[in-house]
Amino acid sequence: MNQDWRGTLIRQLLLLLAGCLLVGLLSGQYAWALAIGLGAWLGWTLWQLLRLQDWLSNRPDEPPPYSRGLWGEVFDSLYHLQRRQQRARERLQAVIERIQESTTALRDAVVMLDADGNLEWWNPAAERLLGLKSPQDHGQPVTNLVRHPRFKEYFEQSSHPEPLELPSPLDDHCRLQLHITHYGHGQRLLLARDVTRMHQLEQMRKDFVANVSHELRTPLTVIGGYLETLLDAPDDANPRRRRALERMQQQARRMQALLDDLLLLARLEASDYPTDNQPVPVAALLRRIQADAETLSGARGHRIELEADPQLHLKGSELELHSAFANLVFNAVKYTQDGGQIRIRWRADAEGAHLAVEDDGIGIEERHLPRLTERFYRVDAGRASRTGGTGLGLAIVKHVLARHHGRLEIVSRVGRGSTFTCHFPASQLLRHQEQA
Ligand code: ADP
Repeated sequence: MNQDWRGTLIRQLLLLLAGCLLVGLLSGQYAWALAIGLGAWLGWTLWQLLRLQDWLSNRPDEPPPYSRGLWGEVFDSLYHLQRRQQRARERLQAVIERIQESTTALRDAVVMLDADGNLEWWNPAAERLLGLKSPQDHGQPVTNLVRHPRFKEYFEQSSHPEPLELPSPLDDHCRLQLHITHYGHGQRLLLARDVTRMHQLEQMRKDFVANVSHELRTPLTVIGGYLETLLDAPDDANPRRRRALERMQQQARRMQALLDDLLLLARLEASDYPTDNQPVPVAALLRRIQADAETLSGARGHRIELEADPQLHLKGSELELHSAFANLVFNAVKYTQDGGQIRIRWRADAEGAHLAVEDDGIGIEERHLPRLTERFYRVDAGRASRTGGTGLGLAIVKHVLARHHGRLEIVSRVGRGSTFTCHFPASQLLRHQEQA
C-alpha cells in the first residue's frame, strides 16, 4: 500500500465515523449508528475479499472483477502481475520449443539424464542411434539401455575429459562416439555421434601400416641373412667393404626394430583390452629387464638398481607390460651417459601402484614433454639415430598403459636426468603371498 492509499483509507474511515456520529446525533443512538456503519464497512470489505478469492481460484485467466478504490487497485495490480508472469512463461516456452526444434533437427543424439542417471529427455536422433523408445524408456537408467560394459565403466567415472567410442547398440557396424557433460545439480548430458566413416578410415590406415610392415618383414629377413653370411665369410679382408657391410647390417636391424614396433602398435590398436589378462609378477619381469638392460649397457657401465615389491602383481598382459617397461628402461640406458645411474622402483601406496624408471642422464627440455608419446616424435633427430631408436617406444608405452588403465608421468630436467613413472589404479593390482 503506498502513501496515497493510506491517506485515502484514513479519510474514508474518518468520513464513515463522522457519518455515523451524525446519524447518532439525529437519532440519539450513537452506539447503533456506529455499529451499523462499521458493520457495513466490514461486510463490504469481506465481500471484496470473497470476490478476490473467487477470481483467483476459479477464473484466474479472466480479467479481475470490477471494484472501486483500494480494492480496485489490488485487483488491477494482481492482474498486471499475473499478465507479466504469463508473458514471461510464454517467452520461456517459446525458447524451450525453439531449443527442442533445433535439437530435433540435429543429427547427433542428445540425451538429458537426471542426477541418478535416469533418462529425462532425448531428441529423435537418440532413438535412431541408441535405440531409445519414447515414452516407455522415460525414467529408465541409461545403463539399462546402453549395456556395453565399457559404457558402464565410462558412465561411472567422476569426470569425462575424453569421449568414448563404441559399436552402436543397434548395429555392430556402426561406431558411435559418446561424450558425457555435467551440468546443473548432478545432471548429465549424453551426446552421441555416428563416427563410422572416420572409424573406417582410421581402420584402413591401421590395416595399411600393419600390412606394409608385415610384407616388409620377409625381404628384410632375407637381406639381413645374406649380410650376416657375407660378414661371416673369413676370406673377406677388404676393410672398406667390411665397414659397408656392417653399416648395412646395423641399418637392417634398425628397420627390423621399426617393423617390430609398428606391428606391435598395430596389434595394440586392434583391440581395447589385452586378451591374455593374467596376474603378472612384475618384480620377476623387472629382474629380466634389468638383466637385458645390463647387457645393452655392456661396456658403457651403467649402474642399474632395482627395488621391487615381489608380492605386488598387476592384472594384464605380461607381453605388453614387458614391452612397455623394457622401453622405459632401455631408453634410460640409451639416453644416459656411460657409467650413469638408473633406478627402477615398483611399489604400491593408497592410490595404486607405481613403476618409476629414474636416470641421471641427459634429460629432456620441458617443451618436448607433452608431445613425447607421439609416434616418431623426437627431441633431437641426431640423438635418436645415434641410439638406434625407432621413435615409437613411448607411443607403445602410452598404448599399453591405457589398456591397463594406467597413465604415464614424465618429469625431466636437462642435464639432470628424467623419471618416467607408470601409475596404475588399485583396481589393477593383486597381492600374492608367495614370492614372485
Ligand atoms: P626412441 O626410439 O627414439 O627412443 P621413444 O618414443 O622411446 O623413441 O622416445 C622418444 C624420445 O624421447 C627419444 O627420441 C628421446 O629423445 C626422448 N627420451 C626418451 N626417454 C628418455 C630418457 N630416459 N632420457 C632422455 N630422453 C629420453
